[in-house]
Formats: sequence, C-alpha cells, structure tokens
Amino acid sequence: MTNNYYLGIDFGTSGARAIAIDKEKNIVATKQNSFTNITADELTQTWQDTLYQLIAEIPLDIRKQLQAIAINGTSSTVLLCDREGKAIAPPILYDDARGKEELEQINNIAPDNHVVVSATSSLAKLLWWQKQPYFKRASYFLHQADWLGYLLHGKLGISDYHNALKLGYDVEHLSYPIWLQKQPYSHLYPQVFTPGAVIGNLTPQQSHRFNLPANCIVRAGTTDSIAAFLASGVSQPGEAVTSLGSTLVLKLLSQTKINSALYGIYSHRIGKLWLAGGASNTGGAVLRHFFNDEQLQNLSQHIDPKTRSSLEYYPLLKPGDRFPLNDPDLAPRLSPRPTNSSDFLQGLLEGISRIEALGYQKLQELGADKLTQVYSAGGGAKNSTWQAIRQGYLNVLVTVAANTQAAYGTALLAANQTLL
Ligand code: ADP
Repeated sequence: MTNNYYLGIDFGTSGARAIAIDKEKNIVATKQNSFTNITADELTQTWQDTLYQLIAEIPLDIRKQLQAIAINGTSSTVLLCDREGKAIAPPILYDDARGKEELEQINNIAPDNHVVVSATSSLAKLLWWQKQPYFKRASYFLHQADWLGYLLHGKLGISDYHNALKLGYDVEHLSYPIWLQKQPYSHLYPQVFTPGAVIGNLTPQQSHRFNLPANCIVRAGTTDSIAAFLASGVSQPGEAVTSLGSTLVLKLLSQTKINSALYGIYSHRIGKLWLAGGASNTGGAVLRHFFNDEQLQNLSQHIDPKTRSSLEYYPLLKPGDRFPLNDPDLAPRLSPRPTNSSDFLQGLLEGISRIEALGYQKLQELGADKLTQVYSAGGGAKNSTWQAIRQGYLNVLVTVAANTQAAYGTALLAANQTLL
C-alpha cells in the first residue's frame, strides 16, 4: 500500500523537531534534537548536522513515501552568505540587539512606525553587517529557514513573506517597497514566496542521501510563531489563539490588516486573511515568580472560577508594558496580598485574564474582526480553572488548542493543508 507523508521541521534556538504527518493530518513520526553550549562559530554547522540527523531518523518506510518538506525558523535569526551559500560570519540570532546602532539610519529610510524600526529587526542586522569589512563578500542575506531550505532544494536567495516581514517586505503588495529597493545592498535581499509555495524538488544528492523520492518537493517555510498558530487549526476570522507562556501573546485571525507601532501590534498575512498579534509582559513568568508548577496546579483547584475577588492586579515582574496598555513606566499592581495563597493566585489569574480581554478589545478597536472563540496554548493552557476564569472575562468559548507544536503547523504547510 502506498501512503503520502509530509514533513515539517521546526528550528528554534536550542533545538529542532521534525514531525511527519499523513494526508489525514495524523502524526506518524516525531523526532527531536537539542543543541546546547554551541559557540556562534559552530551554529550553521550544528543547524546543518541537526537537520540531516532529524531527516535520517524518520523511519525509512515514511521517508520513502515523503511527498513534501517545509521548514520553519526563528523569526529574525539571519545569515549573510557568499555565492556558494556559505555563511561569511556567524548568524545573528533573533534577540541580538546590536542593530540598535542602526536605528537612526533606519529611521531615515523607513516610514514612521514601520516594523523594521527595532534594534532586533532583520533590517537592523543587515545594516550592522554592512559596516563590517567582510560585507563585500556577501551575495545573499537569508533567514534561518531560508538557509535550511536551501540545503534541501539547492536554490539560494529564496524566502517567504512571514520571514521577510521584519526585513521590510511589503506583505500587502507582495513586493519590496521602493525605499527598500533603493538601498545599495538591495541585491542581497531574497526573492519572497508565499509560505508553503513549491520551491522545487529536493536536490538529487539529498534525495539519494536520505532515501527520499526524487520528486519530493520542498515548500517555502515560515516562522516559529506562525507555525505554532497554523498547528492550532484556527481557520475562521474572529478566532484567536492566546499563548499562556512566560509572556501573554494574543493572535486574532481577521479580514483586516491592523498595525500599531505604539502598542507593538502588527499583522502577518495568512493567505487572504491577516493575523493580528500583540504581546504583554504579563504572563506565566509572574506566576512562576510566586509559585512552582505543582503549586499552581494544586492551588488552582481551591479557586471557584464563578466568584471574583476584589483584587485588581496588573501582574508584572518589573515596571512597563506595551500592550494592551502602552506605558513604559506602568507599575506592577500586586497588592493588597491576601494571606491565603489560593486567594492570591486567584487575583493573579484574574489580573492576567483581564489583560487578555483588554488585549482582544484593543485589537478589535483597531479594526480586527469581532472575537468569536479563543484557543489556548502554552504552559497555562492546561489549567482548567483559569480557562473558566478567562471565559468569564472574554465572553466567548475558550478551549485548548488541539495542537500547538510549530513542527506540526509546518507539516500542515508541507501538506498544503493551511489557509496559505
Ligand atoms: P515559554 O515557552 O514561554 O517559556 P511555556 O509555554 O513553557 O512558556 O509555559 C510556561 C509557563 O506556564 C510558566 O511561566 C508557568 O508559570 C506556567 N504554568 C505552568 N503550569 C501552570 C498552571 N497549572 N497554571 C498556570 N500556569 C502554569
């Protein structure tokens, strides 16, 4: 019997994971590998070794029937490569803020409040590289996912519109804006495809190396957070995913594109729709500061989600938030503190829930579609008490997302089973 399988590979900063699915979207294999204590100089070799190892670990009967592969990388982790696709300097990682030296120059060329006006944007990293003596040897500026995809399809200078957003690509008009085209380094920009678009077959060398069909295709990739969103299966405007991790991240699928630099809100394109997102500094990191995971689980069972405390917390570890309240000096509000721990936890959970509701309200005020349903992801999603509390504040159905693994979302992209 022949089957069709699809492979999604998720590259993060400390490891990578591969998930193979069948055409019914069932997971048929999962492999993962972590890399720690890697120096900057070793990064690209480690990524390549990890990619090859993960593919080789997929069971042979699945590999032999693999139809397509897609890869997601960390947004804004970038490489500068020579003509042969070899990195000429260590990659610059997503959170590396050395580009703050370039902000003045970016402000001079980019429109006000553009998403590239950030010390960690891909454009800021490219401008930093421009000042280095080796820059003249550069032929390609690539994102992590672009470079890993190249190792499989052999084509240099290819990207997707999720990765290219923070380089300044105009996802609405599907072109580099004129102000970006005019720059002296514009020949380095990758050609941008729709995430999931067919880039080409695997190179003969790679299909031979891994025992993969010669006609196995490689599709354009995406970023880690979009891949995690795709995994949730959200498909209708008005549906949203809240990530209850260390921070609180909201993503609302909408027919309209909304942006607000003031609140750190921007929209990714998802086919004909837009994914509007915002992130607050509140979230699980504050919970973890006071309680370990076991305490969180036990204390939550003593909370009645149908009653509300009179505590009006804004849980933060240090002053300042951007979304849904933009105030760099916003003071954490964590008092008065009840003597009973579960009462205190109730206040914290309510506080975060209130901020979540305020966040969705803000996205809607800016023009996003009316919220109809929320799917939860991240460490806090398993807390059913909190889910009931949140439902009370949000006034829409709140459930746990069926899957939130980026590698699964990217496998769906490989299988062409997304809105893209
Ligand atoms: P990240 O990847 O952003 O670090 P995770 O998605 O792994 O975060 O989630 C970790 C967070 O989940 C921690 O900050 C922790 O406080 C929170 N968490 C873990 N268990 C629970 C629980 N039962 N209820 C609420 N929050 C929880």
